[in-house]
Amino acid sequence: MAPGCKRVFLCVHSGVTTVDEDKGATPGFSTRAVRAGQARGVEGEHNDPIYTTSSYVFENAAQAAARFTDQEAGNVYSRFTNPTVRTFEERLTTLEGGARGIATASGMAAILSTCLALLKAGDHIVASRSLFGSTVNLFNKVLGRFGVETTFVSLTELDAWKSALRPSTRMLFLESPSNPLSEVADIPALAAIAHEADALLVVDNVLCTPALQRPLELGADIVVHSATKYLDGQGRCIGGAVVTAEEAVGAEVFAFLRIAGPTMSPFNAWVFLNGLETLALRMRAHSVAGRELAAWLEAHPAVRRVYYPGLESHPQHALAARQQSDFGGIVAFEVRGGQAEAWRVVDSTRLISITGNLGDAKTTITHPATTTHGRISPEERAAAGIEDGLLRIAVGLEDIEDIKADLATGLDAIDV
Ligand SMILES: *Cc1c(COP(=O)(O)O)cnc(C)c1O
Repeated sequence: MAPGCKRVFLCVHSGVTTVDEDKGATPGFSTRAVRAGQARGVEGEHNDPIYTTSSYVFENAAQAAARFTDQEAGNVYSRFTNPTVRTFEERLTTLEGGARGIATASGMAAILSTCLALLKAGDHIVASRSLFGSTVNLFNKVLGRFGVETTFVSLTELDAWKSALRPSTRMLFLESPSNPLSEVADIPALAAIAHEADALLVVDNVLCTPALQRPLELGADIVVHSATKYLDGQGRCIGGAVVTAEEAVGAEVFAFLRIAGPTMSPFNAWVFLNGLETLALRMRAHSVAGRELAAWLEAHPAVRRVYYPGLESHPQHALAARQQSDFGGIVAFEVRGGQAEAWRVVDSTRLISITGNLGDAKTTITHPATTTHGRISPEERAAAGIEDGLLRIAVGLEDIEDIKADLATGLDAIDV
């Protein structure tokens, strides 16, 4: 904390949640989401200030020397530390139950920083086949060039993860639930497999956020985030974060960020801080809407199948209910017919936004086979379970009756 700042209610420093002595036990999730990490300045501001400064001044030459050589803690340059960014890091870290958080310029920068900080040429990754497209490209097209090889396996088949292990395997990487089909990984089982192999389990927690799922408590070593999605919640800024269970692992990621510079801007950190204040409320509302929409779609005659972990018909409903406190806002479904019928549903919407983004207050719809999965071959698409009639909804915060009515226009027109 900078000199002249007063600790407000609670701060997290190096993963230790310190609560004002007279306040007693650790506050609940929502309390931390609203208040953790804030360091109030001399002006007594109520909301977090945005520190738009690239560097910091020192009291004298000796202090400058001490700061530069890490003999004294404190700010030097905003590529490494910035008070607004640090407040975001501390708040997200306590929500994930981690020891150290590092904010990054984007979700992809979070994944890149994790890999470049912790892997070297000759190392091997085992990754879920159901990953965000840019993550697949990062592993194959970028890390591959630097001698880090990746084997992709089915998210849900534990034996496939085990048999893909090599002596050089250093990292297991997954998203759960997956997007768009909401397959659910058994995180404790995969953590055990990773640790037996002396590898780290990295979980991309974008779809659930810590409001619904805390992978570190389930045994994962690292959580990565695209703050762009639900942490912001209103589609305003690009950002990301890495949260580690161990301080030493986080320190390695921070050391990479300090050198390489994929840093979050203070303005974006401020937007995400305000997003975190309403995270639990929003995730609850997205989940209520998701459950309602999934049940409604499942009963619609034009819908062949719905993919949503909150449905009893979901093959891993019990596992999802064990690992997550709710099921979130991503609902995928297959309409009867194929691409033409799916496109008719998309094109009949008047309210829902036709865009690939998710985690927004505004509901969005995508046709994965021709957008997010449009550049892979039909065979690969079929293997991934992306049918031509599949649509993905990221349900927002509008009235759910309006969303249903918007979808009904196209669905009711399909011949069944
Ligand atoms: C969007 C997304 C990312 C990448 O995040 P950016 O902020 O766009 O860089 C990574 N993983 C998942 C699951 C995502 O949805």
